[in-house]
Amino acid sequence: MRIRIITLFPEMFDGPFGTSIVSRAVRDGLVEITTHQLRDYTTDRHRTVDDEPYGGGAGMVMKPAPLADAVDDLKINARDAGEPEPRVILLSPQGRRFDQATAMELAARDSLILVCGRYEGVDERFIDASVDEEISIGDYVLSGGEPAAIVLVDALTRLIPGVLGSEESAPSDSFASGLGGRLQGPVYTRPAEWDGRHVPEILLSGDHARLERWRQEQSEARTRERRPDLMEPQTPKSRTRDHQAGDGDTGQ
Ligand code: SAM
Repeated sequence: MRIRIITLFPEMFDGPFGTSIVSRAVRDGLVEITTHQLRDYTTDRHRTVDDEPYGGGAGMVMKPAPLADAVDDLKINARDAGEPEPRVILLSPQGRRFDQATAMELAARDSLILVCGRYEGVDERFIDASVDEEISIGDYVLSGGEPAAIVLVDALTRLIPGVLGSEESAPSDSFASGLGGRLQGPVYTRPAEWDGRHVPEILLSGDHARLERWRQEQSEARTRERRPDLMEPQTPKSRTRDHQAGDGDTGQ
């Protein structure tokens, strides 16, 4: 999989992508991640990427041309590398809420372009012209799309086949299909007694069938208590602009 990230702050990705599971996946050639400085796509002396909003109001708005030029250039780059057309995702608090199902959907793709907004957001005409989908990581406002892109890349990288070893396998994680999309139950490690607290006896029993039943029961009980919404069948909500389908903004 190839992920290209358009950003004003490429250095924000060095730490998160230079450590742990994502860096191992990069090292093993399972994912290739590159960052692209938006200012490199400006044409004026000051490398301007933003301007005042039409109609007044607070803050600055990101100009459409450098963003669109960056996306076009990276698409050409992808085509030259023999990749399928990348899906263009704008990180935005107004997008479809990111979840495990979306991470799985994105992990199955070969090529993504992630666009990180800043300031008051991006000119709507760029979204109309160049963005396939807007994704939000939650109902709060970040200062920029970079932390959201880091969350998205981390969540989907662990789902790429071969990235996780068997000891850290994803099917038993919360929201995974192995648990029917529910939360994972409690987990314990040695010692069997700590500070007067004991590990549940069943975990020491070696009875795998009982243990599996217990894990499923714990998962269900915890999900009912903490996230009853996950016990209901999920209906996807999205704000998708599928330009590839050629029918413009689906408005969903
Ligand atoms: N004025 C915008 C609004 O009210 O919708 C918020 C702009 S925010 C300060 C700047 C940028 O941060 C956004 O363009 C987006 O790229 C990113 N961002 C902020 N919150 C986000 C979230 N919850 N999920 C994904 N990206 C987010």
